[in-house]
Amino acid sequence: MSSLRPSPIAPTVDFDRDGVQHGFLRLPYSRDDSAWGSVMIPICVIRHGNGPTALLTGGNHGDEYEGPLALYDLARKLDPKTVSGTVIIVPAMNYPAFRAGTRTSPIDKGNMNRSFPGRPDGTVTEKIADYFQRELLPRADIVFDFHSGGKTLDFVPFCAAHTLPDKALEQKAFDAVAAFSAPFSMRMIEIDAVGMYDTAAEEMGKVFVSTELGGGGTSRAQTVRIARRGVLNVLRHAGIVDGAVEKSQTQWLDMPSGDCFSFAEDDGMVETMVDLGEPVEKGAVLARIHPVGRTGVAPQEIRAKMSGMLAARHFPGLVKAGDCAAVVAVRVD
Ligand code: CA
Repeated sequence: MSSLRPSPIAPTVDFDRDGVQHGFLRLPYSRDDSAWGSVMIPICVIRHGNGPTALLTGGNHGDEYEGPLALYDLARKLDPKTVSGTVIIVPAMNYPAFRAGTRTSPIDKGNMNRSFPGRPDGTVTEKIADYFQRELLPRADIVFDFHSGGKTLDFVPFCAAHTLPDKALEQKAFDAVAAFSAPFSMRMIEIDAVGMYDTAAEEMGKVFVSTELGGGGTSRAQTVRIARRGVLNVLRHAGIVDGAVEKSQTQWLDMPSGDCFSFAEDDGMVETMVDLGEPVEKGAVLARIHPVGRTGVAPQEIRAKMSGMLAARHFPGLVKAGDCAAVVAVRVD
């Protein structure tokens, strides 16, 4: 049974030691330019006394930057004297992807958020997933995973949790989302939840909170500010860091069904007809896809299947059939 094999990853930090430790998850990776080489995934452990454990990650997808910006910063600045418990910070979870600036790993094309529960004898990405599944997630009481849209999507800035069968767990997650205090707070559904880190954490009974804070393969001043303040708010809310939550107004959003999502059915040049955050009526044209192979051809229209607000859109100027073109969410009062 491969699942009984120990992880090949060796941490250079001691999760049970008090104080601040900056180290690595060292994953052996033999290759052309380094026969006995390793992937060195940065990790920081900040522990002070007894209390809950938070596991904080960015760079699950390598081209999303608010999380890594907030978490490298937190690792550098968080004073252990203000901590009651343990904060484990992995700012760039799929580190090879993060270093390449790509969503998936350049080593094995692994998408971290489709690789759970992972394998100790699998690809590099599967080995990282397996280490989180069997070593890090079991230590955590609350799990916070930063996302943004990456190079191909752009979102209104929101913190999110999933609707869950366990309503007590769901409520804890939504309470943490409220504490994060992003401009928007989302009750999220997934297109395809199999293999996700989210699902792995939730199935273990962990409070799991995520974000989508922008996108386009970069970050913005506003979204980085939201990320830095929000993660500290979640740690305060969990009782792990001293101080009061800095609450601000948030607009709750719901994704009531798969009708939220619109997918392109043609290749072409995309024209956004609605900007992020703007209201849309059912049937409204969200985007037009212009064929570019010849002149004189009318664009294809992508229409909203429900009324609400534009929460996400395809980012690059060119679109391919099958791309997620738009996401509509419903404002909840
Ligand atoms: Ca993502």
